[in-house]
Amino acid sequence: MNKHQMFGYLTQNIGIMRQASDKIWDYAETAFEEFQSSELIKNILSERGFDVESGTGGIDTAFCATFGEGGPVVGILAEYDALSGLSQKAGLAVRDAATPGGNGHGCGHNLFAGASLGAAIAVREYLASNKLRGTVKLFGCPGEEGGSGKAFMAREGVFDVLDAAFAWHPMSVNAILDMSLLANYQVLYKFTGVASHAASAPDKGRSALDAVELMNVGVNFLREHVIQEARIHYAITNSGGFSPNVVQPHAEVLYLIRAPRTSQVEEIYRRVNKIAQGAALMTETDLEIQFIKACSNVVPNKTLSKVLHDNLTIQELPVYTADELKFAGEIAKTSPGAASADLNRYLKSHPADLRECIKRLEGKPMCDIVLPFYHDDPDQILAGSSDVGDVSWIAPTAQVVTACYALGTPEHSWQLVSQGRTSVGHKGMLLAARVMAGGAVDLFESPEIIERAKAELRDRLDGETYRSAIPADVKPVAIGRL
Ligand SMILES: [Zn+2]
Repeated sequence: MNKHQMFGYLTQNIGIMRQASDKIWDYAETAFEEFQSSELIKNILSERGFDVESGTGGIDTAFCATFGEGGPVVGILAEYDALSGLSQKAGLAVRDAATPGGNGHGCGHNLFAGASLGAAIAVREYLASNKLRGTVKLFGCPGEEGGSGKAFMAREGVFDVLDAAFAWHPMSVNAILDMSLLANYQVLYKFTGVASHAASAPDKGRSALDAVELMNVGVNFLREHVIQEARIHYAITNSGGFSPNVVQPHAEVLYLIRAPRTSQVEEIYRRVNKIAQGAALMTETDLEIQFIKACSNVVPNKTLSKVLHDNLTIQELPVYTADELKFAGEIAKTSPGAASADLNRYLKSHPADLRECIKRLEGKPMCDIVLPFYHDDPDQILAGSSDVGDVSWIAPTAQVVTACYALGTPEHSWQLVSQGRTSVGHKGMLLAARVMAGGAVDLFESPEIIERAKAELRDRLDGETYRSAIPADVKPVAIGRL
């Protein structure tokens, strides 16, 4: 089997990916509860000769499937968690929940799982048919949404065996995700006061809700005095009940603190803790700080990104039918003007290329080009986070994105759920599988690329090594079950 034949093998076997992706879309299981989804992928892999380990890193819905012998060891990452409250019927251009209040694949992780599964199977075929030395590992990584499953797996040393890792994400463009993403901490602040009648005995009450409000006010003042790139978000996850005539004895607020590097997040976190302690002091309430999770910033790797880019540019891009384009056009109308923002994310530091790509895609609902990749550019920072970050500190890691949705489709939206179980989504998934499998094969055929990628990672870390920011006693927890 040569590389070209491997791409053909993937096209012939798209049914495996499609069925897995659609079933995972149907299951729509949220963080750390992806039991059916992980079982499905594990079964397919063990039927195909992979050695499958369950419960990897101590997480029930994580797994690691291995094929091959010796080095190099190349990892492919898979995600399969859904989001709560985003249930939506597939293939519709209007909001219509399949199960009102139910979950939905609003980040396309069903497609993510499908392509990573396909890539692993194709690489296995390639290694076996060429009797090539090397190991491919598919990591089933649960709880990306709000849980940073990979960061917990990284803390347990799961990725230490890797020489390189590939991941991807369904998006609305075809590009290399050669960007840094922000590190973050998620922390729950729990206040406990004293309940009393708010009218007849207010002096006896100590309000936990007051503490939450004062903490938030304090943090809002802090915003002026943190670095420009930092982001601090919060959600009041327990406001103390429905009764204004009761002084609320319990209240909780969940914070998400982001910055370009973990050390910067740590510094802001310590200051937020002081504000929380101040709020407790002001209100005479007790404070408990529960560390939920953390993830590291993504360290891009130009050497490995270039491998993916070379494999992306040799592919024939999907051709869309008139019906697919009509549907994508209807979806695009639901978020007008968002298409150029999609392109801006990748090309903002190259205004001439940005203008050129906007021109080439004008009036088109689907991206049918590959966006330029600049292997000698300084890194851009994307204002989001990904637990791929922890893997990228341990082994050189690169990510590709492919067009699975209409241009301008908002992330975590019903529009995205709707398109995640359509032929357009499947076409993007197949493309991603081909690119990742092609990249992995290049590393097996030319291990010297790995040495260059590792040297680049060492340079970028500049003497630092990976350190998990998650305390040793913190276990993964689904946000909805805090
Ligand atoms: Zn995602």
